[in-house]
Order: sequence, then structure tokens, then C-alpha cells
Amino acid sequence: MRAEVAVVGAGPTGLLAAYEAARCGASTIVYEEHPGIGEPPHCAGLISIQGLRRLGIETGDYILNEIRGCRLISPSGITLEAWSSKSKAYVIDRPRFDQLLAEKALSIGVSIETSSRAERWIRDRGRIKGFSGVGFRVEADVSIDAEGAGAVLSTRAGLKRPRGLLGGINVEVEGVEVEDGLVELWFNSRLAPGFFAWVIPLDEDRTRCGLATSEGEAYERLKAFLHKRFGGEPKHSKPWRGIIITGGPITRTYLDGLIVVGDAAGQTKPTTGGGVILGGLCAREAGKVAAEAVSRGESSSRFLRRYELSWKSMLGGEFSSMSLARRLMNRLRDEDLDKLFAAVKEAGLQPLLTRLVEEGDMDMQRNVIREALGNRRLLGIAMRILGRIALSELRGLLNL
Ligand SMILES: Cc1cc2nc3c(=O)[nH]c(=O)nc-3n(C[C@H](O)[C@H](O)[C@H](O)COP(=O)(O)OP(=O)(O)OC[C@H]3O[C@@H](n4cnc5c(N)ncnc54)[C@H](O)[C@@H]3O)c2cc1C
Repeated sequence: MRAEVAVVGAGPTGLLAAYEAARCGASTIVYEEHPGIGEPPHCAGLISIQGLRRLGIETGDYILNEIRGCRLISPSGITLEAWSSKSKAYVIDRPRFDQLLAEKALSIGVSIETSSRAERWIRDRGRIKGFSGVGFRVEADVSIDAEGAGAVLSTRAGLKRPRGLLGGINVEVEGVEVEDGLVELWFNSRLAPGFFAWVIPLDEDRTRCGLATSEGEAYERLKAFLHKRFGGEPKHSKPWRGIIITGGPITRTYLDGLIVVGDAAGQTKPTTGGGVILGGLCAREAGKVAAEAVSRGESSSRFLRRYELSWKSMLGGEFSSMSLARRLMNRLRDEDLDKLFAAVKEAGLQPLLTRLVEEGDMDMQRNVIREALGNRRLLGIAMRILGRIALSELRGLLNL
């Protein structure tokens, strides 16, 4: 088989890159190891409405619920809560969402081969010239690696593996009471060390609950969380597992003949691990640059570097700010978090929280971080807890 652009992986970033490459005129093929697109699911499915608009993805039957509010719970149970007057995020059926992206890609001529696992790169004098697996071989001008968080091919090609990998898990719980339209984030190092646990209302009967952890067995921790949140052992679906990436993008995302996108490139939000929107935006740049490389007959690393320059100029500052926020979050012990939550409550910062939820961007979080730290009271509180050095580092980076 021969294609101008060949993509490993039919997750959202592989499909968006393929769509863009085909839209820009390149003959494009995607190889997916599983028999069905979007299966097995491994995502909590919380996606910002603004992010979908940025990606130009229309609404559809993949939307299951809308989210307007957020409740943060500290280790000792202090809560901070804020609502927006309008919906900020959708809870989605991720398999259906991925299928919609596949349908869009197919509609403009992308070919998708399922049950086809890419196993090795085809190389010619050091350049990647495609890949092969059991029963197939594809030669391509540009290969796009969108194999997700478990990436092995990109490291075999000589690129770095993302850092800050956490064990993520999610279940759908039946018959429990939660507030509709409100996401809960629980911070507690005994339940979810290095991250948080989440509760996302789905419909009248189902609630998505999950967590990520830097240590220990995720499912045991999730069962302990469900017990704490709902009491007893609520009935729930089989768990979905996956890797959540919080370490920011890898330092280099291209080689001769190869571009890496999405989770495989660490293009997720370091604060929350969400990767559909930012990874998707990078994927669109990948598709554009790959098609341009094809039309110019120039797929050297010198040319493909344009991809990295492009996603970095669009999102580099966002990734840096969120990585730094993540590093500061990782320094907070449970008692620090309790102090922070209590102080925010006492300092009367509710109007600020409400404004951040009302106006803040869920994906481009740099301005939210900036505004929060630009508030003198909040800065004073954070300074007492984090120490001057950490904060001056953060403020410097954000040019406050
Ligand atoms: C528990 C959990 C909850 C999450 N919740 C959210 C959330 O609420 N919102 C959000 O934005 N993000 C969330 N994420 C992150 C999100 O799932 C990822 O950022 C997103 O799926 C990345 O898309 P991708 O296309 O890069 O990778 P993936 O979606 O992982 O797709 C990679 C595809 O490549 C295929 N593949 C892999 N290797 C090969 C191979 N060798 N050959 C052929 N095919 C291959 C895989 O089967 C898969 O279909 C969550 C992640 C986890 C683990």
C-alpha cells in the first residue's frame, strides 16, 4: 500500500490530523489496532464547549449532558463552589464522538483500516518511510504517530516518552444522587495521590466517577473513593483504565518523515490531563504541515519542524503555564490544601471564583492562572502556603 500521509491510531488526534491532511489534498490512510473506532473507552468525556468550537466540531448525538458548575473539595471536606450562567462543558459519549470524527474523515476520502496494529517503522537511510504490521505494509511520504499515551513506536523512532504519567480509571455508577450540571473534584492524597478524583453527572441514573493516581492500584483507590462519596459499595460498570499525562509535551515532536501528535506527544493539559482539545488543535497543525510537505515533495525533519513551531506558537505558553501550575500543585500537601481552601473562603473570594468559572477558558488556562495570581488577597494566601520562591517562579513565567 502507498499513501502520501499514513497515520498510526484512530483516536481523536489521529482522526483530526488525517481529516486535515486530506482536506489539504493529501491521500491519507489511518491504521487502528482495535476492530472498532473509539473502543474500548478510556476517557471521562468532559470536553469544553469553547474547545469544540475551536476545533470546528459540530454538536451531535455524542453529547450526553451539559455542565455549568464546579465544586472543589479539600482533603478535610472544605468546599469551594462556583456556577456559570451558561453551559461550559459537555459530557460526551467518547466512542460515539470518535466515530463521528471517523465519519467526517471518511467523508472526505480518508481510508481507515481497523484491526491493524502498526508494529515497526519502515526506514530508508535513517528516514521514516511508513510502517508495517501483521498483514500490511504502508509506504508514506509523511507518517503521523497518534498512538496515544501508551506510545511505544515513537520511542522506537527515537523520540522521548511523555512524563508525568498517572494511572487513570473511570466507572459509571448507578442510582446515586448528585447535583445535575455540577462537576466535583476531590483533592485528597490518600484517595488520589498526585491528582484528584472526579464526579461527573451523566443522566438521571448514571454518574461518571474516576481518579488518577501516581501510586498504588487505581481500582482499589476508586472503590475507597466511591465508599467515601456515596457510602457502601454503589453498583457500577466495569472500570475503564488509561494513562493520564500531566508532564507537558515532549521536547521534540518530529523526525525525518515523522510527526507525533496528541497523547503520544504529551499534548494534554498538565493541570487536568485532558487532551482531546489541545491535542486536537496540535493534530490539525500536524495534518496541514504533512499535506504541505507532500505537495512540496519535502518531508525532511527541517521541513516538518514547521509543525512544532506552529503548535508551540499557538499553545507553547499555555503548556508552560499549566506545567508550572501542576508542579506547584504537586508540592501541596493535604494540610496545605486545607489551609488554602479555608483561607479562600475566609477572604471572601467567592466573586472571583464565580468570575473565573463564568469567563475562564477551560483549555487555555494561562489567563485563569494569571488572574487568580493577580488577585492580591489570593496571592498573599498562596505565598504563605507555597513560599516566595515557588510563587516568584510562577509570576515571572506568567509576566505578572
Ligand atoms: C481515565 C481518563 C479520563 C480522561 N478524561 C478526559 C476528559 O474528560 N477530557 C479530555 O479532554 N481528556 C480526557 N482524558 C485524556 C484523553 O482521553 C486523551 O488525551 C485523548 O484520548 C488523546 O487522544 P489521542 O488520539 O492522542 O490518543 P487515544 O485517544 O489514546 O487514541 C490512540 C489510538 O491509537 C490506537 N493505537 C495505539 N497503538 C497503535 C498501533 N501500534 N497501531 C494502530 N493503532 C494503535 C489506539 O487503539 C487508539 O485508538 C482522559 C484519559 C483517561 C485515561
